[in-house]
Amino acid sequence: MGKFAIAAAALFVASCAAPVQHPRQQIDSRIRAEIWRTKAIDNHAHPMRATGLNDPDHEFDALPVEAMEEAPMARRLDPGNPEYHGAWRSLFSYKGENERNAAEAKQKAMRDRGDGYPAWVLDQLNIDVMLANRVAMGRGLPANRFRWVPFADALIFPLNNDSLGKRDPDRKTFFGGETKLLQRYLSESGQSAMPGSLDGYLRFVTSVLERQKNQGAIAEKFEVAYLRALDFGNPSKGDAERVYAHGGVPSDADYKTLQDYLFRYVAGECGRLGLPVHVHSCAGAGSYFDVAGANPLLMESLFDDPALRKTKFVMVHGGWPFIDGMTALLEKPNVWADYSIQTLLVSPRELSETLRRWLEFMPDKVLFGTDASPITPAVGWEESGWLSAESGRDALGLALTAMLRDREIDRRRASQLAQMVLRDNARHLYGWK
Ligand SMILES: [Zn+2]
Repeated sequence: MGKFAIAAAALFVASCAAPVQHPRQQIDSRIRAEIWRTKAIDNHAHPMRATGLNDPDHEFDALPVEAMEEAPMARRLDPGNPEYHGAWRSLFSYKGENERNAAEAKQKAMRDRGDGYPAWVLDQLNIDVMLANRVAMGRGLPANRFRWVPFADALIFPLNNDSLGKRDPDRKTFFGGETKLLQRYLSESGQSAMPGSLDGYLRFVTSVLERQKNQGAIAEKFEVAYLRALDFGNPSKGDAERVYAHGGVPSDADYKTLQDYLFRYVAGECGRLGLPVHVHSCAGAGSYFDVAGANPLLMESLFDDPALRKTKFVMVHGGWPFIDGMTALLEKPNVWADYSIQTLLVSPRELSETLRRWLEFMPDKVLFGTDASPITPAVGWEESGWLSAESGRDALGLALTAMLRDREIDRRRASQLAQMVLRDNARHLYGWK
């Protein structure tokens, strides 16, 4: 063996033996310190109320995924993912790997902190304010830490939903839930029956949005991609009136006309009321989800409608996997994106590449988010929120470090971008001081 070969072999052995670095170790240390020090605004999550075991909380989502047919789960989201052990250690000082024991350690933390528990969880995640996408708020979710984002989907499905529910078992569950939620909105408005005309129905829709705003809502959420594709047309009011007046079980085409009209109406009213419209735009949970129908490009005609220019559209989950289209859409004056759940769908390294593209292109439109939500008793919104917040900070740190090393930005700008993504962009979007 020649000298060169010996040296090469030695190098090879040395490189094999080198400890594998966690991606976090590759983040510039000053950027890392700033990102972990900053108290974030979480643009999208499903925190749970401080409830006792006898008072289960079913209002953390209008379409709870636990009611869906069993389906394969993305690897990092799967509750068996050992990365969640880090959450148990960090939040509850539980160092083992047993799900049941972890759940017990969590129960103790809940008992110890009572109504202060949800805000205590935010403190552990270094999250200042979490947008709580819930049907209703409740105990332990104070408005200074948890801001309400209710659901508007039910408002665009006012007719008989039986035929839509026949498409697959998940939609059957979902449309059953939406029909019930619309009934709840009607009774909260003091109405015992559906209004007889479209104009009457539109007045009811406005009353729901105004009431939710008065009760503290800061945005409205559509998870409509679980129900139908995002390809909203622009039908005339006359056509929508005809379908509404006919009632009964509409044909799919007629019902789409009415839904399209109502979606635009809700979006327009949200613009008038200063409520940004959150839209689930991401491959969704379950095995029947229409991935192609969740492409944010399908909504381009709404973004470009001069009548909707005052409406702020926030593409929740940032359109994954349609990152190219989402990137281009950020150039619209009324479009934002958060990267909630991408934090758990892909690795921090892959997410950092998406963030880098967005930050190079439209840095004031990018929002931090976790999509913290319950999966099992041991992996609840606390654990998914912890892992998502850690991964989201890792991805942001990796993106800024790469931009710094390529001399695209200096340290001052890196710090500014970190603050924008973690806090300032959200503050500007929602008009907070
Ligand atoms: Zn969500």
